[in-house]
Amino acid sequence: MMLVLNGADGEGGGQILRTALSLAMITRTPFRIDNIRAKRKKPGLLRQHLACVRASVEISGAKATGAELGSQKLVFEPGEVRAGQYRFAIGSAGSTSLVFQTVLPALLVAKDESRVVFEGGTHNPSAPTFDYIKNVFLPVLGRMGAEVNVALHRPGFFPAGGGKWHAIIKPHDGLVPLTLDEAGPLVSKRVIATVANLSLGIAEREANKAAALLGWEQALTETRSVDADGTGNVLAVELAYEHVTEMVTGFGSIGMSAEAVAADVVQEVCDFLSVSAPVGPHLADQLLLPMALAKGGAFTTSSPTLHTRTSIAVIETFLPVEFTVAELGNGRWRISVTA
Ligand code: ATP
Repeated sequence: MMLVLNGADGEGGGQILRTALSLAMITRTPFRIDNIRAKRKKPGLLRQHLACVRASVEISGAKATGAELGSQKLVFEPGEVRAGQYRFAIGSAGSTSLVFQTVLPALLVAKDESRVVFEGGTHNPSAPTFDYIKNVFLPVLGRMGAEVNVALHRPGFFPAGGGKWHAIIKPHDGLVPLTLDEAGPLVSKRVIATVANLSLGIAEREANKAAALLGWEQALTETRSVDADGTGNVLAVELAYEHVTEMVTGFGSIGMSAEAVAADVVQEVCDFLSVSAPVGPHLADQLLLPMALAKGGAFTTSSPTLHTRTSIAVIETFLPVEFTVAELGNGRWRISVTA
């Protein structure tokens, strides 16, 4: 049976498509999606989304109709997922981590190990950065039984791109449910400011301002100058707890001062700390699919984003699971799933 999805539902962005691709491959269910990214300024498939479709076609031998730049309709009919050696190049600075997250669930349940190389952007706004994938997302997935190792070869920033990294994905017998209601004690915290082909002074100003606003000592800051094709500037604040790590990321842009970048990131850190829930808003939407595949689990987070609510609806369309979203008070919410 062909499922029919409306890309304009809920948030109306690219996540509906990516989640559908992942689930179609795992359940071997064909789908048609109309109005792809209808609520975005540039609707339809951008390079990053097209790369997700093409990568999915490659690993599952799928038939895809409408897989073209700008297309607002797609029919995707997956075959059997094959583990192997893959290389997925976006051909722009689009986010490689979103391609990774699209193919990961299917490759985790394939019969053998896969080695996948990604080329494009590694540190993009509005997407998990490579560091977030490595330090935040994968450790939680590891606690659910998934063994995935990643290594960065070269960072890629907008607009030049040129980043490269690889993931080694070991097959497993099914994810196990995880409950994440407490972060546990704080183990470490740091501010990391990175520049590529820009003065290290920018990173120093960002790191110092962020530390000052957070009331942290300067010893907790790191500044780095990295090799990349073009310019780049990322500021990250990492809070590592016993059970989970949170990372808030901000990007420098022309016309925005280093201090303003720091202030925005610190504001997000304060929002996270004020709720005192272990799972931040981004990790929340990224854990929904693994939790549904584990057929159980729960976590405490802040007020669910539209992104989270939209993903829940797509997952419930493909899988016989039910999510419960309950408000606990004081800005805390609990999301649980049962099969
Ligand atoms: P588009 O339609 O442009 O593809 P989208 O609707 O798919 O956008 P985004 O809001 O861009 O969605 O988010 C994509 C994914 O990236 C989500 O899983 C989101 O949680 C994650 N993400 C966005 N910003 C961050 C961040 N700063 N840190 C970690 N993850 C992030």
